[in-house]
Amino acid sequence: MASELCKTISVARLEKHKNLFLNYRNLQHFPLELLKDEGLQYLERLYMKRNSLTTLPENLAQKLPNLVELYLHSNNIVVVPEAIGSLVKLQCLDLSDNALEIVCPEIGRLRALRHLRLANNQLQFLPPEVGDLKELQTLDISTNRLLTLPERLHLCLSLQYLTVDRNRLWCVPRHLCQLPSLNELSMAGNRLAFLPLGQLTVFLPAEVKAIGTEKDHILPLQELAMRTLHHTYHASLKDLDFLSPVSLPRSLLELLHCPLGHCHRCSEPMFTIVYPKLFPLRETPMAGLHQGRTTVSFVAYCCSTQCLQTFDLLS
Ligand SMILES: [Zn+2]
Repeated sequence: MASELCKTISVARLEKHKNLFLNYRNLQHFPLELLKDEGLQYLERLYMKRNSLTTLPENLAQKLPNLVELYLHSNNIVVVPEAIGSLVKLQCLDLSDNALEIVCPEIGRLRALRHLRLANNQLQFLPPEVGDLKELQTLDISTNRLLTLPERLHLCLSLQYLTVDRNRLWCVPRHLCQLPSLNELSMAGNRLAFLPLGQLTVFLPAEVKAIGTEKDHILPLQELAMRTLHHTYHASLKDLDFLSPVSLPRSLLELLHCPLGHCHRCSEPMFTIVYPKLFPLRETPMAGLHQGRTTVSFVAYCCSTQCLQTFDLLS
């Protein structure tokens, strides 16, 4: 068996193969044959699913410098090591169904990476450097133990498919709204506590500083300032960095990038204050979907007393 493996690899080396299939080989270590001498400089795709690997070699990038796709599905790897960061051409990395507890920050150096699959592992945390993966289109981190998403995930501007099913998330970060290409977001089987329907008590995001009523005609000064700034810089909002922290505190700059939400009546952004308007669900067109649940309400969020007074579900 071992000699058959050596033969397969040495043929791939001599004939400069771009693909190498080492699935279902019962490998417990990365084959030395792959790493000896100058390695396999022409190899682009390595398939090693369903083996028993526990680690990855430190000199992986040195010996397989042109890897574009690496499939390690169903092994026993515990740590994604620093060495992975040197595979600069890697576009596809599949480490699903392993025993991963740690993904090193160097993952952020994989600037060509498009598809990252880490489902079915033991991850409680992902490094913020995931946000450096500007080409990333697919991220599957379902069935792990994540309490939060990577804090800079909203900077993965190419992200199209985000699958986070069966983790321990308790909220959907608002920053995800900044992902312009996101097509599919799946978060089933988590511990999400804030949902607009199905709760009598209305949970507002922690960022809401004030709740307006019909009597508050005058907006707080900070809210007025934020709305004015937003109007002024709206056209160049994607390029807001020139409004440096010198001209505006970082916390306000972030808020400006990411409003609490938009008025249900007029679509204007709101930053610190919302005017909620409650509609008992039985009075709405959605009543049929929630038969018998008369205590459920629908909440509309408005930007001012004027919008609060004029908003109507049916208009
Ligand atoms: Zn409004």
